[in-house]
Amino acid sequence: MKPVDLSYHRATSVDDALVQLAVGGDGAKLLGGGQSLGPMLNLRLTRPSTLVDISMVESLRRIESTSESVVAGAAATHAEIEDRPASDPIERAMREVAAGIAYRAVRNRGTIGGSLVHADPAADWASFALCADARVRIRGAEGERDVRMQDFTHAAYTTALAPDEIVTRIEIPRASARARFGFHKLCRKTGELAEAIGVVLVDPDRRYCRVVTGAVGAKPVPLPAAAGLLAATAVPPEPDALCAEIASCTGEHDPVKLHMAAVAVHRAVSRALGAP
Ligand SMILES: Cc1cc2nc3c(=O)[nH]c(=O)nc-3n(C[C@H](O)[C@H](O)[C@H](O)COP(=O)(O)OP(=O)(O)OC[C@H]3O[C@@H](n4cnc5c(N)ncnc54)[C@H](O)[C@@H]3O)c2cc1C
Repeated sequence: MKPVDLSYHRATSVDDALVQLAVGGDGAKLLGGGQSLGPMLNLRLTRPSTLVDISMVESLRRIESTSESVVAGAAATHAEIEDRPASDPIERAMREVAAGIAYRAVRNRGTIGGSLVHADPAADWASFALCADARVRIRGAEGERDVRMQDFTHAAYTTALAPDEIVTRIEIPRASARARFGFHKLCRKTGELAEAIGVVLVDPDRRYCRVVTGAVGAKPVPLPAAAGLLAATAVPPEPDALCAEIASCTGEHDPVKLHMAAVAVHRAVSRALGAP
Protein backbone atom coordinates (compact mmCIF):
# COMPACT_ATOMS: atom_id res chain seq x y z
CA MET A 1 0.00 0.00 0.00
CA LYS A 2 0.96 3.64 -0.29
CA PRO A 3 0.06 6.65 1.87
CA VAL A 4 -3.20 8.48 1.36
CA ASP A 5 -3.01 11.72 -0.63
CA LEU A 6 -1.36 14.35 1.50
CA SER A 7 0.41 17.67 1.21
CA TYR A 8 4.04 18.05 2.24
CA HIS A 9 5.68 21.10 3.80
CA ARG A 10 9.38 21.30 4.55
CA ALA A 11 9.69 23.54 7.61
CA THR A 12 12.48 26.11 7.68
CA SER A 13 12.27 26.82 11.42
CA VAL A 14 10.45 25.71 14.56
CA ASP A 15 8.15 28.74 14.26
CA ASP A 16 7.35 27.78 10.67
CA ALA A 17 6.58 24.19 11.75
CA LEU A 18 4.28 25.41 14.53
CA VAL A 19 2.39 27.62 12.06
CA GLN A 20 2.00 24.70 9.66
CA LEU A 21 0.75 22.46 12.47
CA ALA A 22 -1.82 25.11 13.41
CA VAL A 23 -2.91 25.57 9.78
CA GLY A 24 -3.16 21.81 9.21
CA GLY A 25 -5.15 21.25 12.42
CA ASP A 26 -6.00 17.66 13.32
CA GLY A 27 -4.77 16.41 9.93
CA ALA A 28 -1.21 17.72 10.33
CA LYS A 29 1.64 15.50 11.46
CA LEU A 30 5.33 16.11 12.00
CA LEU A 31 7.86 14.12 10.02
CA GLY A 32 11.27 13.49 11.58
CA GLY A 33 13.37 10.81 9.93
CA GLY A 34 10.30 8.88 8.78
CA GLN A 35 11.70 5.55 10.02
CA SER A 36 8.62 4.81 12.12
CA LEU A 37 6.11 7.13 10.47
CA GLY A 38 7.00 6.01 6.93
CA PRO A 39 5.90 2.38 7.40
CA MET A 40 2.78 3.55 9.28
CA LEU A 41 1.87 5.84 6.37
CA ASN A 42 2.41 3.07 3.84
CA LEU A 43 0.18 0.72 5.82
CA ARG A 44 -2.33 3.55 6.26
CA LEU A 45 -2.23 3.11 10.02
CA THR A 46 -2.12 6.89 10.07
CA ARG A 47 -3.78 9.13 7.46
CA PRO A 48 -2.59 12.72 7.88
CA SER A 49 -3.63 15.37 5.35
CA THR A 50 -0.36 17.33 5.81
CA LEU A 51 3.16 16.27 6.68
CA VAL A 52 5.39 18.94 8.23
CA ASP A 53 8.99 17.85 7.69
CA ILE A 54 11.29 19.16 10.43
CA SER A 55 14.36 17.13 9.46
CA MET A 56 16.10 20.10 7.81
CA VAL A 57 15.53 22.65 10.60
CA GLU A 58 19.08 23.58 11.56
CA SER A 59 18.35 24.47 15.20
CA LEU A 60 16.77 21.05 15.75
CA ARG A 61 19.83 19.20 14.46
CA ARG A 62 22.43 20.77 16.75
CA ILE A 63 24.14 18.71 19.43
CA GLU A 64 25.88 20.74 22.14
CA SER A 65 27.89 19.84 25.20
CA THR A 66 27.99 22.17 28.19
CA SER A 67 29.56 21.61 31.60
CA GLU A 68 26.11 20.61 32.89
CA SER A 69 24.65 18.49 30.13
CA VAL A 70 24.63 17.15 26.60
CA VAL A 71 21.83 18.75 24.59
CA ALA A 72 20.68 16.96 21.46
CA GLY A 73 18.34 18.72 19.05
CA ALA A 74 15.25 16.59 18.48
CA ALA A 75 16.10 16.14 14.78
CA ALA A 76 19.68 14.99 15.44
CA THR A 77 20.00 11.60 13.79
CA HIS A 78 21.17 8.44 15.50
CA ALA A 79 24.17 8.47 13.10
CA GLU A 80 25.12 12.05 14.03
CA ILE A 81 25.16 11.07 17.71
CA GLU A 82 27.08 7.88 16.91
CA ASP A 83 29.73 9.83 14.98
CA ARG A 84 30.40 12.50 17.61
CA PRO A 85 33.64 12.43 19.55
CA ALA A 86 32.93 11.27 23.10
CA SER A 87 34.98 12.57 25.99
CA ASP A 88 32.91 11.69 29.07
CA PRO A 89 30.71 8.81 30.27
CA ILE A 90 27.44 10.32 29.01
CA GLU A 91 28.79 11.08 25.55
CA ARG A 92 30.26 7.58 25.36
CA ALA A 93 26.97 6.09 26.52
CA MET A 94 25.01 8.06 23.89
CA ARG A 95 27.41 6.93 21.20
CA GLU A 96 26.98 3.30 22.25
CA VAL A 97 23.18 3.51 22.32
CA ALA A 98 23.02 5.26 18.93
CA ALA A 99 25.40 2.76 17.30
CA GLY A 100 23.23 -0.16 18.46
CA ILE A 101 20.06 1.04 16.72
CA ALA A 102 19.16 -1.02 13.66
CA TYR A 103 21.68 -0.54 10.84
CA ARG A 104 23.34 2.50 9.33
CA ALA A 105 20.63 3.29 6.75
CA VAL A 106 18.04 3.59 9.55
CA ARG A 107 20.46 5.54 11.74
CA ASN A 108 21.17 8.02 8.93
CA ARG A 109 17.52 9.13 8.92
CA GLY A 110 15.99 8.25 12.31
CA THR A 111 16.13 10.94 14.99
CA ILE A 112 16.34 10.92 18.76
CA GLY A 113 13.25 13.14 19.05
CA GLY A 114 11.21 11.00 16.67
CA SER A 115 12.16 7.91 18.61
CA LEU A 116 11.07 9.39 21.97
CA VAL A 117 7.79 10.72 20.54
CA HIS A 118 6.97 7.45 18.76
CA ALA A 119 7.35 5.83 22.22
CA ASP A 120 7.79 2.25 21.12
CA PRO A 121 8.38 0.41 24.44
CA ALA A 122 11.27 -1.44 22.76
CA ALA A 123 13.06 1.69 21.49
CA ASP A 124 16.59 2.20 22.77
CA TRP A 125 16.54 5.97 23.39
CA ALA A 126 13.48 5.80 25.65
CA SER A 127 15.20 3.38 28.06
CA PHE A 128 18.46 5.32 27.96
CA ALA A 129 16.82 8.73 28.44
CA LEU A 130 14.86 7.45 31.44
CA CYS A 131 17.98 5.92 32.97
CA ALA A 132 19.97 9.13 32.50
CA ASP A 133 17.13 11.35 33.85
CA ALA A 134 16.86 13.31 30.60
CA ARG A 135 14.58 16.31 30.13
CA VAL A 136 12.52 16.76 26.99
CA ARG A 137 11.86 20.33 25.85
CA ILE A 138 8.49 20.84 24.21
CA ARG A 139 7.37 23.90 22.26
CA GLY A 140 3.83 24.84 21.37
CA ALA A 141 1.77 27.93 20.67
CA GLU A 142 1.66 28.69 24.43
CA GLY A 143 5.45 28.60 24.84
CA GLU A 144 8.02 26.11 26.12
CA ARG A 145 8.02 23.50 28.86
CA ASP A 146 10.50 20.92 30.07
CA VAL A 147 9.27 17.44 30.95
CA ARG A 148 11.39 14.86 32.74
CA MET A 149 11.62 11.61 30.86
CA GLN A 150 9.82 9.73 33.65
CA ASP A 151 6.78 11.95 33.00
CA PHE A 152 7.14 12.13 29.21
CA THR A 153 6.26 8.55 28.21
CA HIS A 154 2.77 7.72 29.43
CA ALA A 155 2.32 4.30 27.80
CA ALA A 156 3.13 2.48 24.56
CA TYR A 157 2.96 5.04 21.73
CA THR A 158 1.56 7.69 24.10
CA THR A 159 3.45 10.67 25.50
CA ALA A 160 2.88 13.98 27.26
CA LEU A 161 3.05 15.75 23.87
CA ALA A 162 -0.07 17.49 22.49
CA PRO A 163 -0.74 17.12 18.72
CA ASP A 164 0.18 20.77 18.06
CA GLU A 165 3.48 20.63 19.98
CA ILE A 166 7.04 19.90 18.89
CA VAL A 167 9.87 18.30 20.84
CA THR A 168 12.80 20.65 20.26
CA ARG A 169 15.59 19.13 22.31
CA ILE A 170 16.61 16.46 24.77
CA GLU A 171 18.91 17.45 27.63
CA ILE A 172 20.93 14.73 29.33
CA PRO A 173 22.70 15.67 32.59
CA ARG A 174 26.44 15.06 32.59
CA ALA A 175 27.89 12.37 34.80
CA SER A 176 31.17 12.56 36.69
CA ALA A 177 34.34 10.92 35.38
CA ARG A 178 33.81 8.04 37.87
CA ALA A 179 30.35 7.22 36.49
CA ARG A 180 29.79 3.73 35.09
CA PHE A 181 27.32 2.88 32.36
CA GLY A 182 25.97 -0.45 31.16
CA PHE A 183 23.59 -1.14 28.30
CA HIS A 184 22.46 -4.49 27.01
CA LYS A 185 19.69 -5.42 24.64
CA LEU A 186 18.49 -8.77 23.46
CA CYS A 187 17.21 -8.91 19.91
CA ARG A 188 17.06 -11.75 17.47
CA LYS A 189 19.02 -9.98 14.75
CA THR A 190 20.34 -6.57 13.78
CA GLY A 191 17.58 -4.37 12.43
CA GLU A 192 14.92 -5.68 14.77
CA LEU A 193 13.70 -3.91 17.86
CA ALA A 194 14.78 -5.33 21.21
CA GLU A 195 12.96 -8.06 23.06
CA ALA A 196 14.56 -6.89 26.30
CA ILE A 197 16.72 -3.93 27.29
CA GLY A 198 18.72 -3.29 30.46
CA VAL A 199 20.33 0.09 31.20
CA VAL A 200 22.35 1.11 34.23
CA LEU A 201 23.97 4.39 35.25
CA VAL A 202 25.95 4.55 38.49
CA ASP A 203 27.59 7.82 39.46
CA PRO A 204 29.03 7.73 42.99
CA ASP A 205 30.06 11.41 42.87
CA ARG A 206 26.45 12.47 42.27
CA ARG A 207 25.02 9.70 44.51
CA TYR A 208 23.08 8.59 41.48
CA CYS A 209 22.20 5.04 40.62
CA ARG A 210 19.40 4.04 38.25
CA VAL A 211 18.54 0.70 36.69
CA VAL A 212 15.96 0.54 33.90
CA THR A 213 14.19 -2.32 32.16
CA GLY A 214 12.86 -1.67 28.65
CA ALA A 215 10.90 -3.51 25.95
CA VAL A 216 8.81 -5.25 28.63
CA GLY A 217 5.39 -3.86 29.50
CA ALA A 218 3.95 -0.61 28.19
CA LYS A 219 7.03 1.57 28.67
CA PRO A 220 10.55 1.45 30.14
CA VAL A 221 10.51 1.63 33.94
CA PRO A 222 13.10 2.10 36.69
CA LEU A 223 13.86 -0.76 39.09
CA PRO A 224 14.41 0.99 42.45
CA ALA A 225 15.20 -2.14 44.51
CA ALA A 226 17.88 -3.28 42.05
CA ALA A 227 19.34 0.24 41.99
CA GLY A 228 19.34 0.47 45.81
CA LEU A 229 21.15 -2.85 46.13
CA LEU A 230 23.66 -1.94 43.45
CA ALA A 231 24.43 1.41 45.06
CA ALA A 232 24.86 -0.18 48.48
CA THR A 233 26.83 -3.31 47.60
CA ALA A 234 28.23 -2.94 44.05
CA VAL A 235 26.97 -6.48 43.42
CA PRO A 236 24.53 -7.43 40.63
CA PRO A 237 21.05 -8.38 41.91
CA GLU A 238 20.11 -12.09 41.93
CA PRO A 239 18.18 -13.14 38.77
CA ASP A 240 15.15 -14.32 40.80
CA ALA A 241 14.95 -11.01 42.65
CA LEU A 242 15.26 -9.15 39.34
CA CYS A 243 12.44 -11.21 37.77
CA ALA A 244 10.20 -10.47 40.77
CA GLU A 245 10.91 -6.73 40.67
CA ILE A 246 10.45 -6.52 36.88
CA ALA A 247 7.12 -8.36 37.17
CA SER A 248 5.88 -6.02 39.87
CA CYS A 249 7.08 -2.83 38.10
CA THR A 250 5.88 -3.73 34.57
CA GLY A 251 2.88 -6.01 35.13
CA GLU A 252 4.53 -8.61 32.86
CA HIS A 253 4.02 -12.21 34.02
CA ASP A 254 5.21 -14.32 31.08
CA PRO A 255 8.16 -16.25 32.59
CA VAL A 256 10.13 -16.27 29.32
CA LYS A 257 9.84 -12.49 28.86
CA LEU A 258 10.70 -11.92 32.52
CA HIS A 259 13.74 -14.15 32.22
CA MET A 260 14.94 -12.26 29.12
CA ALA A 261 14.38 -8.93 30.84
CA ALA A 262 16.32 -10.09 33.90
CA VAL A 263 19.18 -11.34 31.72
CA ALA A 264 19.38 -7.99 29.89
CA VAL A 265 19.44 -6.04 33.16
CA HIS A 266 21.93 -8.42 34.76
CA ARG A 267 24.30 -8.08 31.79
CA ALA A 268 23.94 -4.28 31.83
CA VAL A 269 24.80 -4.22 35.54
CA SER A 270 27.78 -6.51 34.96
CA ARG A 271 28.98 -4.18 32.19
CA ALA A 272 28.64 -1.19 34.49
CA LEU A 273 30.64 -3.04 37.16
CA GLY A 274 33.38 -3.67 34.66
CA ALA A 275 32.84 -7.36 33.93
CA PRO A 276 34.04 -8.42 30.44
C1 LIG B 1 14.21 -1.49 10.06
C2 LIG B 1 14.11 -0.64 11.31
C3 LIG B 1 14.76 -1.06 12.45
C4 LIG B 1 14.70 -0.28 13.61
N1 LIG B 1 15.38 -0.72 14.71
C5 LIG B 1 15.38 0.03 15.82
C6 LIG B 1 16.12 -0.35 16.96
O1 LIG B 1 16.83 -1.36 16.99
N2 LIG B 1 16.04 0.44 18.06
C7 LIG B 1 15.30 1.59 18.09
O2 LIG B 1 15.26 2.27 19.10
N3 LIG B 1 14.60 1.99 17.02
C8 LIG B 1 14.62 1.25 15.88
N4 LIG B 1 13.90 1.67 14.80
C9 LIG B 1 13.12 2.91 14.88
C10 LIG B 1 14.02 4.12 14.50
O3 LIG B 1 14.92 4.36 15.56
C11 LIG B 1 13.24 5.43 14.24
O4 LIG B 1 14.19 6.35 13.86
C12 LIG B 1 12.52 6.07 15.37
O5 LIG B 1 11.67 5.19 16.03
C13 LIG B 1 11.62 7.22 14.89
O6 LIG B 1 12.41 8.32 14.57
P1 LIG B 1 12.13 9.17 13.26
O7 LIG B 1 12.96 10.40 13.35
O8 LIG B 1 12.29 8.34 12.06
O9 LIG B 1 10.61 9.61 13.48
P2 LIG B 1 9.38 9.59 12.45
O10 LIG B 1 9.17 8.21 11.96
O11 LIG B 1 9.53 10.66 11.44
O12 LIG B 1 8.22 10.03 13.45
C14 LIG B 1 7.78 9.18 14.49
C15 LIG B 1 6.69 9.92 15.28
O13 LIG B 1 7.27 11.02 16.00
C16 LIG B 1 6.67 12.27 15.58
N5 LIG B 1 7.80 13.21 15.62
C17 LIG B 1 8.98 13.09 14.98
N6 LIG B 1 9.82 14.08 15.38
C18 LIG B 1 9.11 14.84 16.26
C19 LIG B 1 9.43 16.02 17.04
N7 LIG B 1 10.65 16.59 17.01
N8 LIG B 1 8.47 16.54 17.83
C20 LIG B 1 7.24 15.97 17.89
N9 LIG B 1 6.89 14.86 17.20
C21 LIG B 1 7.83 14.31 16.40
C22 LIG B 1 6.04 12.00 14.23
O14 LIG B 1 4.94 12.87 13.99
C23 LIG B 1 5.60 10.55 14.40
O15 LIG B 1 4.40 10.51 15.12
C24 LIG B 1 13.95 0.94 13.62
C25 LIG B 1 13.30 1.36 12.46
C26 LIG B 1 13.38 0.60 11.31
C27 LIG B 1 12.69 1.08 10.07
